Amino acid sequence: KIAWISARAGTLPAEQRIVLERAGLIDPDSIEDYIIHDGYQALGKVLSTMKPADVIDVVKKSGLKGRGGAGFPTGMKWGFVADAAGDKRYVICNADESEPGTFKDRLILEGDPHSIIEAMVIAGYAVGADEGYIYIRGEYTLAQARLLKAILQAKEMGFLGENIFESGFNFDLHVHGGAGAYICGEETALIESIEGKRGEPRPRPPYPTTNGLWDKPTLVNNVETLANIPPILRNGADWFKSFGTPSSPGTKVYTILGNVNNTGLVEVPMGITLREVISIYAKGMRNGRHFKLAQTGGSSGSIIPSVLQDTPMDYDSYAKAGVSMGSGALLICSDETCVVDLAKVLLNFFRFESCGKCNPCRIGNQRAYQILNNISEGLGSTKDTNDLQEISKWLYEMSNCGLGQTAGSPLKDIMNYFRAEVDAHITNKVCPAGVCPMSGKT
Ligand code: NAD
Ligand code: SF4
Repeated sequence: KIAWISARAGTLPAEQRIVLERAGLIDPDSIEDYIIHDGYQALGKVLSTMKPADVIDVVKKSGLKGRGGAGFPTGMKWGFVADAAGDKRYVICNADESEPGTFKDRLILEGDPHSIIEAMVIAGYAVGADEGYIYIRGEYTLAQARLLKAILQAKEMGFLGENIFESGFNFDLHVHGGAGAYICGEETALIESIEGKRGEPRPRPPYPTTNGLWDKPTLVNNVETLANIPPILRNGADWFKSFGTPSSPGTKVYTILGNVNNTGLVEVPMGITLREVISIYAKGMRNGRHFKLAQTGGSSGSIIPSVLQDTPMDYDSYAKAGVSMGSGALLICSDETCVVDLAKVLLNFFRFESCGKCNPCRIGNQRAYQILNNISEGLGSTKDTNDLQEISKWLYEMSNCGLGQTAGSPLKDIMNYFRAEVDAHITNKVCPAGVCPMSGKT
């Protein structure tokens, strides 16, 4: 909290690390190192002194929201799974991090694998599950190797498997590697993939909380969300709420990329502004250029123009401003960025990654890409902007899953904030930023 206040006062704050508290500090291959640094303390406390409902109560009171991108209240989700009918339940850690530019979960898993195992056992106890899966992106080979080693160590020490801490509670954990499809990060496609089927999203509702893996109630949480669990149970809900803002407590891990002096990963309190991130952690714009926009959370995030630079980065403030926090990538772009080019890159990604199950997404992304490509090559017509706006609306309203629903948001944001620049490409055949193919440069 002190560091947060000093950031406001303009002095250089240290990062506030909750989920990355041990990353870089401990040997991730050593369970002893994890234990020395408070590891498995929360699990011991939970199993020896708390009932499952008490655990859910603490998570609810902490105000933790899902860090995968959507910001759904974590405690509420845990409560839904615990209350769902049936005896068999599962816990899944979504580690299929594939948003372009996002690598926060990889760093958590590589730097502190036991924290995720501990969190999943706590989650299993709280919701009544005895089995869990970590669905990890196939390319994350180091994180996967460290997880597998950590699972063996935790089993040997009695923190995983049968009769954990001699409490009578059993929990088993599997690691399932993805095979490169972005869509398998969507929770229902991920579930299909674990079940051995083609990774295509199911319609929701019903949500996984009632009908998840093998049609059983399933808790699906992102890596960063889970990494917050042991510290919350160790230190209490009030401690957690002392970070961040009242409606979005805690911290957020951001990957900083783009035209800035300092790129990398930071963990900062919720509510910090983009201007603060750029000036304090990114050390300003590269080559003295001006800030033009930031793209949050990879392809499905929002485009944040400079007028929103001082909006606190928390779920509520961003929602009120009509933009989204996304999953934690901050692609910071200078005035040398062409918005048509940027939209083209994003739509190119979506047209390749669409699973093709439903028409609005399969055809809409392809068509939007073609239109943008034409505009950037000087072949745009005045009808194009209306068509792009229509496609963005249809994608949102008619797509089956989050990929299609959010694919149109870069188009919507660009039309909202940078319409004049798109019009200049179409009407005057000029790229105001001077960088897209129309200007002879790329
Ligand atoms: P969502 O808002 O539909 O759901 C969020 C979570 O809450 C899900 O787990 C869902 O099952 C649960 N939920 C919502 N309503 C519920 C209800 N009534 N009952 C029970 N559970 C309920 O969001 P989503 O489509 O799951 O995810 C979209 C987000 O994923 C986007 O914000 C995007 O930024 C992010 N994303 C992240 C990555 C990444 O690499 N981290 C990749 C792609 C997309
Ligand atoms: Fe597949 Fe796109 Fe439809 Fe999602 S919206 S189910 S990714 S085609």
